[in-house]
Amino acid sequence: MLKFDPATAIQRLDGRDATRGVNPSISDSATFTFPKAQTMTDTFHGETEGYYLYSRHWNPSNFALCQALAAMEGTEAAWCTGSGLAAITTALMHEVKAGDHILSSMTTYGGTFAFLKNWLTKFGVEVSFVNFQDLEAVKKAVRPNTKVLYTETMNNPLLRIANVPELSKIAHAAGAKLIVDNTFTPMIFSPCKLGADVTVYSMTKYINGTNDCVAGAICGSMEYINSLIDVNNGTAMLLGPVLDPHRSTSILKNMHTLHIRMRQHGENAMYLAKRFKEVGFKYNYPGLPEHPDYELMCSMMNEGFGFGGMISIDMGTADAASKIMEIMQEKGVGYLAVSLGYFKTIFSNSGKSTSSEVPEDIQKEMGMSEGLIRFSMGLDNDIEATFQLIKAAVEESRK
Ligand code: PLP
Repeated sequence: MLKFDPATAIQRLDGRDATRGVNPSISDSATFTFPKAQTMTDTFHGETEGYYLYSRHWNPSNFALCQALAAMEGTEAAWCTGSGLAAITTALMHEVKAGDHILSSMTTYGGTFAFLKNWLTKFGVEVSFVNFQDLEAVKKAVRPNTKVLYTETMNNPLLRIANVPELSKIAHAAGAKLIVDNTFTPMIFSPCKLGADVTVYSMTKYINGTNDCVAGAICGSMEYINSLIDVNNGTAMLLGPVLDPHRSTSILKNMHTLHIRMRQHGENAMYLAKRFKEVGFKYNYPGLPEHPDYELMCSMMNEGFGFGGMISIDMGTADAASKIMEIMQEKGVGYLAVSLGYFKTIFSNSGKSTSSEVPEDIQKEMGMSEGLIRFSMGLDNDIEATFQLIKAAVEESRK
């Protein structure tokens, strides 16, 4: 296991600003003043420190959040976006031009898959998908024009683990970058410490944890983040997907409880996995040794944050899954909704929701059952009671 402690890295930051408040004040300005005309010119050229130019570039609230994000990731810098997909699309578009190639894991969040397959290809970027569990297949799929290898650390919705150290070697040998979406596993994995060049997040999920906004983050080297916001060529500066500072302020506060939440989400999912196993449900959880990537996960993870709050059961058919989810919602297990990382349990049938952009034949090739129910386990205090409700819902659906 890695000996990196992202929670302590955030804890040790002195986040006070000039007001000396315990929380930095919310920046409420779209533009900022300069004492001298020359300071403005120098700031435009990135030659000053401590000056803000314009809120689409930087503002004090986003900067404070990004310092915490960079501390958590062990990267030099970070930048925050208005959604997770904005982080992913900005990071990917920044690396490619027409004629370049992106090699992506076949299993990704459906929105990412649709962006890569349907949208980016309109601009002459080549995209191909391969099973990233098969490292030999990944090596073979690399082309002379490959600029990016893209994967999720724990993938959505199959919960397979990407071998980040090995994938980074393949990417770097080809002169490409490895970009990793770590949305399911903040703190558990530190992809840039494992060899990735860039880590992206949907902060909508665990990092914020309250399901009251969409937000995203891009973490990497200082040089890389500065290139993203370069006034002439920066993809973030020129497409403008910046996060609103009111939101960054609230997300920053929630980040300070992320380690405790991750631990509790993980403990609850682990408890359920063991109980599902006992009663013979077809379950999938990477925290038990029978998961194909258990050893790999153990070798890559930071200590003390558990194996994540995502767990799935396979009910065989989409109809069976629908019936059980409706009963679970009635019984108060949680909500039938997309998304994850919330304090309450959320469940959905992946094939019909967050992966519905992935054509059915590819869903089959990935190994995604049409009856797959993906749970994002909440912070339930009595997880045995939750298990009993799920079991009762399954039994009732079979009557
Ligand atoms: N990455 C993963 C793994 C996701 O599950 C999602 C959304 O479900 C996203 C990215 C997109 O994030 P957002 O909805 O914040 O744009």
